[in-house]
Parts: sequence; structure tokens; C-alpha cells
Amino acid sequence: MSINGTAPTLHDHRTVIEVSGLTKTFDNGRVTALDRVSLSVASGQLTVVIGLSGSGKSTLLRHLNGMHEPTSGSVVVLGRDVAALSQKELRELRRDVGFVFQSFNIVGRLSCLENVMSGALGRLRWPRYGVLSYPKAIRREALEQLDRVGLGERAFQRTDTLSGGQQQRVAIARTLMQKPRLVLADEPVASLDPEISGQVMDVLFRSCVEDDITVVCSLHQVDLAMGWANRLVGLRDGAVVLDTEVDASLDEARVMEVYQRLDPTGEKADEYEVAKPAAKPRVESAVGI
Ligand code: ADP
Ligand code: MG
Repeated sequence: MSINGTAPTLHDHRTVIEVSGLTKTFDNGRVTALDRVSLSVASGQLTVVIGLSGSGKSTLLRHLNGMHEPTSGSVVVLGRDVAALSQKELRELRRDVGFVFQSFNIVGRLSCLENVMSGALGRLRWPRYGVLSYPKAIRREALEQLDRVGLGERAFQRTDTLSGGQQQRVAIARTLMQKPRLVLADEPVASLDPEISGQVMDVLFRSCVEDDITVVCSLHQVDLAMGWANRLVGLRDGAVVLDTEVDASLDEARVMEVYQRLDPTGEKADEYEVAKPAAKPRVESAVGI
């Protein structure tokens, strides 16, 4: 807010993501993955991007850390125009932007502790091999992160001996070790069963709230999304068809509207209704929105 009391501008420091008119086509324009998407995300928000398979969720997240270049439109993340960055600047941006993948992307033959410590590599000066090559402070920090995700006792266990939900929690601990300002999570629970999905979402969102990290997470299950997000952005065929704050007043009629917007014909109901987790307490964002 400026001193004369006018509304914050688009480039207010609390705006973490500013996407304007973003269109992305593949295959020489034959496939439109994103269709004039505009989206502004404030610091501290837990935004869930929801949509059926093929609606453009991954493509959108990949633009936010520069894995894709826009066909047209612009993407500004943490004040930086992503498409205009040099390779070096992009690496710097990615230190501030953690990415949690559906497939975990951890190194199975390494211990949990080593996987988590590797999240700090961007902060260290040279490559590390083995637990003891990391500074003591980093080892301690990694153990704390593992504790937070409930896996402190698994620190020295090979990561590929853990269950899927546990492996994803290791991946989340590694991402937090990076001390990101923004975390992008692309269907982090897509390969997990509903109850485990709830546990992983809990770890992800709680840690981010505690550390005041902005989160954009894609999901395809409507009820899971509504249980966790404080903002819901719906994509259909690459276009934003829904953008709403989620709070306790979101009644059944509104929920039905979400289904309707994502899938007007109702043909894909089995895809977004697979998860039926128990109701979870809502996590409020660090700035109370
Ligand atoms: P979602 O993550 O919601 O499942 P995606 O972002 O992966 O959706 O895909 C959106 C659309 O873009 C789909 O039609 C998909 O086939 C297409 N698409 C995504 N990536 C590519 C690519 N690298 N080459 C060609 N088409 C792609
Ligand atoms: Mg995807």
C-alpha cells in the first residue's frame, strides 16, 4: 500500500506471480495447451490449480520456473520476467522456486538424509558426495526437515525402501531445504491413495505456512483441492474457467458449480472424484487470506 492510501499495484511486493495473457501452443500451433491465461498470486497464498488431465496444469506450472517459454503473453515470477532471463538468471530464480514432482524425483539408492541435504546444494559452493561431506549445520538442518515431515527416524534408510507417501515427504523436505520463496507442486499426490494423499498435502501445506512460502499446487481431485486451498483456479482446455477464494462458506451448490465448470458434460467424473479423503482442518495462509 502506498503512503497516500491507493490500492496496491500489480507490481506490489506482495505479488509473487503475475501471468498475463499466457498462451502456449505445441506442434506448430496444432495443440493449444494454454489459452490466454491471466493469473496473479499474492504472497502467502495456497493456490490449487485444478483441471482434468490435459487441461494445461503442468504446462502452466512449467512456465512459472522457466521450463517452458510462452508462445505469447508474459510470466513474471518474484519480480522477474521469466522469458527474458539468461541461463544464469534462470538458475538464480530456480533457487527461490522449489518444484515438487508427481514422480518424487529423488535418488532411491541414497539415504533420506542425503536426498534432503541435496536440496541445499544451490546454497553450497561445490558438489558433495556422501553424508560427511556436507557441513554439520546442513546435516542438522536436514534432520530437522526430516523430523518435520515425520521421517526423522528414517534418516539413514535408503529412500527406495520407503512407501510412496514417505518418498514424497522426503522430496518435500528436500524442496524446503532449498529455502524457496515459492513452491510449485505438480500433482504431488497423483500416484498415492486418498488417505496418504491427505497426509502428504498436510505436510506440504503446513510446512509452507510455517515458513511463509507461497504455494501453487496442481491437483485433479476436486474434494482434495477444496480441503486444502485458500484459492482455487480451474483450467479447462487451457483456459481459466474458475478463480475463487475457498473458505468455509463454500457450500454444496458452489462445489457443484466447480464440477460443472471443469467438466460441463460430466463425462470425466471418475477422474476427479477418485479421492475421498477424510475432512482435514483447513490451513490458513501466513497472511490470513
Ligand atoms: P495436465 O497437466 O493438466 O494434464 P498438460 O499441461 O500436461 O495438462 O497438457 C496440456 C495439453 O498440452 C495436452 O493436450 C497435452 O497433450 C499438450 N502438451 C503438453 N506438453 C506437450 C508437449 N511437450 N508437446 C506437445 N503437446 C504437449
Ligand atoms: Mg500434468
